[in-house]
Amino acid sequence: MKKFDVIIIGAGAAGLMCAIEAGKRGRSVLVLEKADKIGKKILISGGGRCNFTNMYTDADNFLSGNPHFCKSALSRYTPWDFVALLESHGLSWTEKTLGQLFCDQKSKAVVQLLHDECDKAGVTIQPSSEIISIKKGDEFLVASEKENYASDSLVIATGGPSIPKMGATDFALQVAETFDIDTVAFSPALVPFVFTIETLDSFIKDLSGISTYVEMSAVKHNKKDAISGGVIKNGVTLSPPFKESILFTHRGISGPAALQVSSYWKLSDEVSINLFPGFDLLEWLKEQQSEHPQAELKTILNYKLPKRLAQKLCEHIITKELSSKTMRQFNESELESIEQQLTQWKLLPSGTEGMRTAEVSLGGVDTDELSSKTLETKKVKGLYFIGEAVDVTGHLGGHNFQWAWASAWCAGQFV
Ligand SMILES: Cc1cc2nc3c(=O)[nH]c(=O)nc-3n(C[C@H](O)[C@H](O)[C@H](O)COP(=O)(O)OP(=O)(O)OC[C@H]3O[C@@H](n4cnc5c(N)ncnc54)[C@H](O)[C@@H]3O)c2cc1C
Repeated sequence: MKKFDVIIIGAGAAGLMCAIEAGKRGRSVLVLEKADKIGKKILISGGGRCNFTNMYTDADNFLSGNPHFCKSALSRYTPWDFVALLESHGLSWTEKTLGQLFCDQKSKAVVQLLHDECDKAGVTIQPSSEIISIKKGDEFLVASEKENYASDSLVIATGGPSIPKMGATDFALQVAETFDIDTVAFSPALVPFVFTIETLDSFIKDLSGISTYVEMSAVKHNKKDAISGGVIKNGVTLSPPFKESILFTHRGISGPAALQVSSYWKLSDEVSINLFPGFDLLEWLKEQQSEHPQAELKTILNYKLPKRLAQKLCEHIITKELSSKTMRQFNESELESIEQQLTQWKLLPSGTEGMRTAEVSLGGVDTDELSSKTLETKKVKGLYFIGEAVDVTGHLGGHNFQWAWASAWCAGQFV
């Protein structure tokens, strides 16, 4: 049996960062990875360019049973710490939008950086290692298909179950449950919405390929579903609004705003879409009425929205009697009604694409079970959970990697 100070299960973003930090402290570290190569999710991240962090990351960018839990780690390892690491390897970065930082040399260079840092810190990485059992006596005993190992500290960095075809599973929760540690079930997040065949056939399919900038929220009719960062409007709770684009697809609605909202959405919630964010639509409609009294509404909407979308809105969303009129024929309350329909467009998704395409998963090890300073479990000394395995899930835009780096860096100082 081979003995290490630290065994880390999972060679993803969190596992590798933790290995580097522990190795730098002179700990002997073994990383066991099920897949045949390390950092597979990093490789596919950000469309192959790895949105490795977000310069505006803070606790408001995360969903968790305890919204304060992530603060400690995020304050001790910041986006600029990862930027410094990147630059120390001669890599450069670009801010794409909304503080999202991408690696100019692409995802492969980020994985290579982590690999090189592991080498420098004397970390042993063992890919293609399926774990058979984990036991705890005086030390942790980890049996893989190939060998048996022992360690003083054990770090579970196996992520969440999104994209199962990459081998992602809920392994972290299985381990937690064997040690009687509370968990929050994993569920898909940052995932496209799907709709019933009837809704798809009536208008969504015809809009497939159209992208438009919106403000979007999930609508919670159940008052018990109060959400951190949400607002109450006309008696319903809205999730935090996201001002980004949506993309209509042949299955439903995707695009950054939809992915963000999906993390707050539950079955039977509607979504509310403002097609004119930050724009005084009513005032503009009145101006158009005086400038183009003979024009049809759909012609007017064409000025601001993609043509096919304007047409479908008039055919299916705006009530028939309104959309058949010319601008001159509208009275004030009708214009107000049009404004309301276009700025609070309610749709009822039938679900999401699920774990198959989800970028991350909500849930994980209950934060009440962990020290926010060390990420060690309170019940089992020497056992740590980091990264996506913990019930901390980031918004789209580099926040999930920042949580992986930060939580792993913190655990790396203590394992
Ligand atoms: C398509 C896609 C694009 C993404 N793009 C971005 C992005 O641009 N920016 C961003 O911030 N986030 C992005 N994410 C999310 C990000 O990839 C994850 O939040 C992050 O990888 C989590 O890091 P982790 O180390 O906790 O888990 P992972 O990176 O998932 O690593 C877990 C590792 O554990 C291994 N493992 C699992 N089970 C076992 C086991 N039983 N035994 C041994 N090893 C095991 C896995 O093979 C994997 O290597 C993206 C996700 C996807 C799916």
